Amino acid sequence: MSRFPRTGPDQEALVGGIAHWPISEEVRKFGFNISPDELAVIASNHRMSRLTLHGGVDGISNKIQVSLKKGIKENEIKTREAIYGTNKYTEKPSRSFWKFVWDALHDLTLIILMVCAIVSVVVGLFTEGFPKGMYDGIGIILSIFLVVIVTSVSDYRQSLQFIELDKEKEKIYVHVTRDGIRQKVLIFDVVVGDVVHLSIGDQVPADGLFVSGYALMIDESSLTGESEHVHISHHKPFLRSGTKVVDGSATMLVTAVGMNTEWGKLMSTLTLSHGGEDETPLQVKLNSVATLIGQIGLAFATLTFLVLLGRFFVEKYINGTEWSAKDASTIVNYFAIAVTIIVVAVPEGLPLAVTLSLAFAMKKLMDAQALVRHLSACETMGSASHICTDKTGTLTTNHMAVDKIWLCEVSKSLSSTSDTVKELHSAIPRNAISVLLQCIFENTSSEVVRGKDGKKTVLGSPTEIALLEFGLKLEDFGGDQYQKNEKVKVEPFNSEKKMMSVVISVHGGYRVFCKGASEIILGMCDKILDKEGNIIPMSQNQSKEILSIINEFASEALRTLCVAFRDLDAFDSREAIPTSRYTLIAVVGIKDPVRPGVKESVKTCMDAGIMVHMITGDNINTAKAIAKECGILTDDGIAIEGPVFRSKSPEELKELMPKIQVMARSSPLDKLMFVEVWKDMFNKVVAVTGDGTNDAPALNRADIGVAMGISGTEVAKESADVIVLDDNFSTIVHVVRWGRAVYVNIQKFVQFQLTVNIVALIINFFSACIIGSAPLTAVQLLWVNMIMDTLGALALATEPPHEELMESPPVKKDDNLITKTMWRNIIGQSLYQLVVLGVLVFCGKKIFNLTGTNADATLNTLIFNSFVFCQLFNEINSREMEKINVFEGIFRNWIFIGIITGTVIFQVIIIEFLGTFANTVPQSWKLWLVSIIIGSISMIIAVILKCVPDELLKLKPSIVLPKDYVPLPDGPDGV
Ligand code: ATP
Repeated sequence: MSRFPRTGPDQEALVGGIAHWPISEEVRKFGFNISPDELAVIASNHRMSRLTLHGGVDGISNKIQVSLKKGIKENEIKTREAIYGTNKYTEKPSRSFWKFVWDALHDLTLIILMVCAIVSVVVGLFTEGFPKGMYDGIGIILSIFLVVIVTSVSDYRQSLQFIELDKEKEKIYVHVTRDGIRQKVLIFDVVVGDVVHLSIGDQVPADGLFVSGYALMIDESSLTGESEHVHISHHKPFLRSGTKVVDGSATMLVTAVGMNTEWGKLMSTLTLSHGGEDETPLQVKLNSVATLIGQIGLAFATLTFLVLLGRFFVEKYINGTEWSAKDASTIVNYFAIAVTIIVVAVPEGLPLAVTLSLAFAMKKLMDAQALVRHLSACETMGSASHICTDKTGTLTTNHMAVDKIWLCEVSKSLSSTSDTVKELHSAIPRNAISVLLQCIFENTSSEVVRGKDGKKTVLGSPTEIALLEFGLKLEDFGGDQYQKNEKVKVEPFNSEKKMMSVVISVHGGYRVFCKGASEIILGMCDKILDKEGNIIPMSQNQSKEILSIINEFASEALRTLCVAFRDLDAFDSREAIPTSRYTLIAVVGIKDPVRPGVKESVKTCMDAGIMVHMITGDNINTAKAIAKECGILTDDGIAIEGPVFRSKSPEELKELMPKIQVMARSSPLDKLMFVEVWKDMFNKVVAVTGDGTNDAPALNRADIGVAMGISGTEVAKESADVIVLDDNFSTIVHVVRWGRAVYVNIQKFVQFQLTVNIVALIINFFSACIIGSAPLTAVQLLWVNMIMDTLGALALATEPPHEELMESPPVKKDDNLITKTMWRNIIGQSLYQLVVLGVLVFCGKKIFNLTGTNADATLNTLIFNSFVFCQLFNEINSREMEKINVFEGIFRNWIFIGIITGTVIFQVIIIEFLGTFANTVPQSWKLWLVSIIIGSISMIIAVILKCVPDELLKLKPSIVLPKDYVPLPDGPDGV
């Protein structure tokens, strides 16, 4: 925001009947002749009369001291920011740590426990006096305090991480001209007076005015809700921050930034929050599991309470003892145990584990160049069965160079050395080279700019850069100078039309240039340049010959383009650019090498049961050649062209889809249709990559939309769930790997937690029934709850992925989260623990010869200690569900090691030093050893369980895929 105070509009300064905002002395001092408020009003009320009042765009540019050609001066940025504000929006401050503590304290069960603890303290003080009577209650309060702190620290850390990711999402770069040099700056660094270059797919970075450009169409729906696109021109020059360029290109003059823009004002009325993520499908699935387990817990807790109470009353009745305050304390304790059982049973750690695991994966993926915009995308990516990828930039490097050219009936192969360009000059007539150069330089949306170091660089799309760089080389050697003629009409490139055309005025007439997809341009031509550079009619044979040249270039994996021209006597800029009777100038073959590592990544996908499809706008032969090189197109797969695909009936598609590996010359709508067929007809999980504005519908429709960070437009990025910052296909495979890791980690955690739940519920319930007391007290149960919930989630949900994850097929949408293998492990471990703890409960005293007043306390401590060690060793077991070696890679996961070590240390402290609060007594070294041995036997049990043959569990055949596995679609209903 501007630091200069606002005043109201100056009624004295009525110009043309409009009150305008006065210019403060401070503003004038810097040489500016218009107030920030006046500029903001011009930007927001969109009245031409107000703009005219200031002399139009030129007038405004004078008043804010900017040259529309050279832009602002770098050294003025600070002043401009001070006067007109910065391009930042005031954000709601992020939530403080105490807010998280407050939220954690709001847990209903914890509140009930707190009440129990207070009642217990009060009753205890009456019955047993100070301080002894307080210990039980204080123990519970301390445990609640620990649970609250651990939960809030973990939540707070995550919120910080989301803020960091949100910041990353907002990093948008725009092209501006400053000091006459075109450069890229962060959207936040745009200032009033900046001359911004906009092209298709860009986000308008601030409010401003149209300076120049062609066919500029803006999508203002984000601001106005209007879905109809707005045509911006000199007659309607107002551009608004936050809107998107859907077609054309332009330069704009920034007149208002940040909170002075309409977008800023809108933002100030909205309540912003960071990381306000919707629940992921897995979280939804788990929430219902959690609710069910919680209900079972509630039933068990009620039963346990009733049994304890019943036994207490019966005993009292039989013994005929008097009622005393101590009885109230006992009942309060029973109630506390029941509530604690609910706390243990409610697996609040499940959704937490998902968020933790996803947040961890998101952070790791950020380091690996993938920005996950929606938390759920990461998890969905794990079950992707199809990846539809672009070719250009994703599979290839996007560093393009003209490699072959055919013109005047001569085909030339060009290397980077200048000799070949020289050769071209000697072989091709001068007039042909001239018209080719004219076409290259006039019919382009790229620009040759001088950087700060004075070096010439070409800015624009890689295809354009390749052509322009080739043109520059050719120009140097021929000494030919291209002239910038007045452009009468420009139809910029888009992937729907697959071509770009421009009309220029030349010596009293007009010349049209067009360049684009080779077959399309060839189809528009009826003349060619002969060996001497003369224009001659194109015969059928020549047309066929050129087609074979195109195919020859394409089968060498070259991207082919044709360039053509036509002279016109008259042309009205309101009419469409003609699409026939052109003269073909040349066929150009552009090399775009396959990225290193792509072949291996495609193989990894295939091994993981994921089908990779290439969907490209390029020529079918180029597409096939590249697809073969990447390993996408196999002998039994097919390549199809977009228009052919579009014409297929649903029945034909059912048969064809599993075989389609390449779709060439596809339009964005073909891409959308391809995704829809896989999703709707075959019920598959589909990931789609996209970079263009027109890819947005496919990106939205896919289960996971992946946009390209470098070549992707802002529109594509906004529609995507994941942004691949380096545009590399291998990064997408990385996301899949992490997605799978998240799923498996959650499974491991569920397996671990269910085992603890089952054992804790059953052992407390049965001992309550049989011996009238619960072996695990409220404080002990709270500690166990922390081990299995927050700490368990941290330890198990953050396991990094390992290679085997990519050797099994993707999880299907309707697959159960808890597999049979998991049930085997859960039931096996629970049985072992129940038997051992049961033996301890009922025969422990005898076995360990425990006598005296402390016998009960020692036994209960032994039970508690053994129970905790069983969980600790089982946590290690849970690292692997199938494999016997559970220690693999354990030292690479420091969080896991830290949590296990920390838990052991705290367990020792609880038993040896905090007995007063935790109802434990110090244990002899022998009893410590017993607990550890009992715990460690669970590891042997795990090995035995893993050896149970799959047939016994009636599992599906081994999930390791054969090397040549190609997933066949299920039936049309996904059966
Ligand atoms: P994808 O990125 O989807 O793999 P692509 O980049 O090859 O494919 P498009 O951008 O739709 O797909 O391009 C299709 C065709 O249009 C190209 O094969 C090329 O012949 C032509 N083309 C590409 N860029 C331009 C351009 N700037 N001007 C004119 N024609 C172009």
